[in-house]
Amino acid sequence: MPAGFNSLFIPGPTNFPNELRAAMNLPAEDQRSPDFPKLSLGLFRDLKKIFQMEDGQVFMFPGSGTGGWESAITNTLSPGDTVLASDFGQFSHLWIDLCQRHGLNVDAIDVDWGEGVPVDIYADRLAKDKEHRIKAVLVCHNETATGVTSDIAAVRKALDAVSHPALLMVDGVSSIASIDFRMAEWGVDLAVSGSQKGFMLPTGLAIVAASAKALEASKTAKCPRCFFSFDDMMAANKDGYFPYTPATTLMRGLRASIDILLDEGLENVFARHNRLAEGVRKAVSAWNLDLVAKDPKWYSDTVSAIYVPDGFDATEVARIAYGRYNLSLGSGLSRLSGRVFRIGHLGWLNDLMLVQAIAGAEMAMADVGIPIELGSGVAAAQQHYRQTAALAELAAQPALAS
Ligand SMILES: *Cc1c(COP(=O)(O)O)cnc(C)c1O
Repeated sequence: MPAGFNSLFIPGPTNFPNELRAAMNLPAEDQRSPDFPKLSLGLFRDLKKIFQMEDGQVFMFPGSGTGGWESAITNTLSPGDTVLASDFGQFSHLWIDLCQRHGLNVDAIDVDWGEGVPVDIYADRLAKDKEHRIKAVLVCHNETATGVTSDIAAVRKALDAVSHPALLMVDGVSSIASIDFRMAEWGVDLAVSGSQKGFMLPTGLAIVAASAKALEASKTAKCPRCFFSFDDMMAANKDGYFPYTPATTLMRGLRASIDILLDEGLENVFARHNRLAEGVRKAVSAWNLDLVAKDPKWYSDTVSAIYVPDGFDATEVARIAYGRYNLSLGSGLSRLSGRVFRIGHLGWLNDLMLVQAIAGAEMAMADVGIPIELGSGVAAAQQHYRQTAALAELAAQPALAS
């Protein structure tokens, strides 16, 4: 093993905060004990703060984000139902595939990778759907493959403009707890997340929030479900228990995660991600490279996907970064393979950690012969972080600022 730590800048799993690791270093516990509901009921209550919701319910399944997708659709839809979705990256693509394998009829709009959810096309489809054949509208809030964030509130507006009753389902796996997400205000019916991204935990929990309307839909939905059944969960969850063995250690970690997030304050968490991301974007422009995200309105505050110049192999950049410098970068997925590397900037991170990632990316790019000036991206990020540090410090201490 090389000395020193691996610099982890993939967009999930993300770095574990020390307090969170400590919270999970404990003996195995009895998930049927009279004490256990103290933990679980507190989590159900406080997860709602993270999702910014009041009514409805949050579920914790052992699983990952993919399981969350499956639970959202199987609990609320029936085979043959039509859903409206768009394909603008590997994750939005895979969710569509999952829907198709469950026998749903997906109206999948092909969008250039680098753009976000096509709100105008959604609005048009919804307006024309007078018979309300579309039962759900799917949106990947933050497409992790391309570093693109979509406008969920605008999709809600499109639904409301024609009083369309379809459920609004959001993949928030790489946005929730890092980028502003408002379940109640945006009228989201199902929001899917996982433990290993914004929640800074190991992989192993699918965290799914359902609105009251989604819970109502689950009473008549016919897709088969067993492991992911809302009903079975709700019957046991109301007393703080589970229909099968819950991931107790991860739940201890989740308690610490929520405490860390609420202690920093969600607004500050979002502002920190924006500020760190902006430093990476300044570095990318100093390198004269392009982001996959085609327009600033789509820039993701949790991940940047960066094109290498034609004739170079982005896979080599990530390979050298890892092999020579012990830096983990994200690689290009699917059709972006070889053309893109990604810097994940979500979770437990600060200025100097990002400067390190940028420095390592420069070294690896220089090693494969990409003509960038060593230090150029680092300097651009340093400038940004220096210029904004005092303000960020002040914003994080509202008592002092006022
Ligand atoms: C990571 C991710 C997923 C998949 O989650 P897993 O935990 O790997 O199953 C789905 N959607 C998005 C946007 C993601 O970033």
